[in-house]
Amino acid sequence: MLYIGCHLPSSKGYLAMGRHAVALGANTFAFFTRNPRGGSAKKINTSDVEAFLKLAESHNFGTLVAHAPYTMNLCSNNISIREFGRNMLADDMKRMEMTPGQYYNFHPGSHVGQGVDLGIEQIAETLNNVLTKEQSTTVLLEGMAGKGSEIGSKFEELKAILDKVELKEKMGVCLDTCHLWEAGYDIVNDLNGVLEEFDRIVGIKYLKAMHLNDSKNPIAAHKDRHELIGEGHIGKKALIKIINHPELRNLPFILETPNDDEGYANEIKLMQSNYTTW
Ligand code: FE
Ligand code: FE
Ligand code: ZN
Repeated sequence: MLYIGCHLPSSKGYLAMGRHAVALGANTFAFFTRNPRGGSAKKINTSDVEAFLKLAESHNFGTLVAHAPYTMNLCSNNISIREFGRNMLADDMKRMEMTPGQYYNFHPGSHVGQGVDLGIEQIAETLNNVLTKEQSTTVLLEGMAGKGSEIGSKFEELKAILDKVELKEKMGVCLDTCHLWEAGYDIVNDLNGVLEEFDRIVGIKYLKAMHLNDSKNPIAAHKDRHELIGEGHIGKKALIKIINHPELRNLPFILETPNDDEGYANEIKLMQSNYTTW
């Protein structure tokens, strides 16, 4: 079964997101745990979560892929921004336990001139500070396009973070097709080669989710500009190959294309109708 969905607004709560997903033909989705640009989080309503979990079960939803706010930078050169990020992460880990066993994806961060090594050190230190043996959430490092001083556009950097995290069983990776492409990984002409490289450097077992996007830019542009499926430089054919690849086909796929609801519903339908089942 193909698990596919998109980013959904979270301001009306979990049941509203579940219904929204169903209306779009989605069976997983992503959502911001709080305002993506700010820091404040709304209190979670227990009966809303219970109603959502029931709906998710009856519609055979796959694992959800929550997204941390963009303001979270665990390796900022500014200590108060790092602490702000740490507190959001800790609070989000508590909130995520309301819906046990889901994924929580975050951008490793931008080192803002401090250097990659110190940045990696700071990211891992915060993860070691916050993650607990008891948590049921798996935290995913998102592979990045390599814009500015972003960490995580190279598999080696993702691996270096994972190496320093003690509770590795609570960690995974989310690869974004637009980011891979813009980071310089040729998923159009050499998908197998890219996945073999990921397996050799990071380990394929860490790959837990995918963001499915086309890209406005040619390979290795390092700009991070998502495009509608089939209208960018990656193209429909390559993205269809990705959802069907034996190492990827069971992962949740999240569309982050510049779309409205109708556009998302169409892209979901397009992918479902091109998913090979036997
Ligand atoms: Fe992201
Ligand atoms: Fe993404
Ligand atoms: Zn992006």
